[in-house]
Amino acid sequence: MKTRIAIAALGTLLFTSFSNAAAHWTYQGKTGTSQWANLEADYAVCGTGQRQSPINIETRKVTGTAAQVIGVSYAPANADVVNNGHTIQVEPANGGTLTIDGVEYKLAQFHFHTPSEEKIDGKSYPLVAHLVHKSAEGKLAVIAVLFRTGKANATLKPVFASLPAKAGDKHVLDGTINVGDLLPAKRDNYTFIGSLTTPPCSEDVRWVVMKTPVSISSAQLAAFRKLYKMNARPVQAVNGREVLVGR
Ligand SMILES: [Zn+2]
Repeated sequence: MKTRIAIAALGTLLFTSFSNAAAHWTYQGKTGTSQWANLEADYAVCGTGQRQSPINIETRKVTGTAAQVIGVSYAPANADVVNNGHTIQVEPANGGTLTIDGVEYKLAQFHFHTPSEEKIDGKSYPLVAHLVHKSAEGKLAVIAVLFRTGKANATLKPVFASLPAKAGDKHVLDGTINVGDLLPAKRDNYTFIGSLTTPPCSEDVRWVVMKTPVSISSAQLAAFRKLYKMNARPVQAVNGREVLVGR
């Protein structure tokens, strides 16, 4: 009995030390989304948080326009493409910035979920990209770009041409990528305060969900789904949060 406890404690220690590499949370099954809050003390807010993401955006309840002005300034960048065991993540080196109300956030990475985690009037899309940005103070802002199937996405061609197949695999992107080319031409969006959609589900994340979807081919979608069939957290309670139109 004592040995088993010691081994369990060691296991926790190892998971804590290598928390980035440890794929001990999942989307379904025993360590699935409904269990995240119980897996680690640090994940408690996944269950108790009142401003969790993703949400279903009910457009009839979106009345106001955000006072914040959103500006983007992206540039072509070299990038790593990482399979982190939960998604495919692209990590550009100096890919540019997002500015909201005078605060500058640096692009850190972008990654994908299928189907889209965000819903608009109950409708989900086949895929979403989350563009994660961090300010000098450590605050996060995420732009969500929704995808519908149609023409192949030219910007994502080098990413989808060589997806790292196994968790822990990393490829260097062939050429450069300009994340600005992923955004729809029309920048109208829904903006609100939410959380990370993966453990530890930390709150106080500024979300900007682009209204207009962009295109991805069914072959590109299939290439991602071959690795990750379903990696979307269910929608969370809005709890009276204000969802505004941003421009
Ligand atoms: Zn995400």
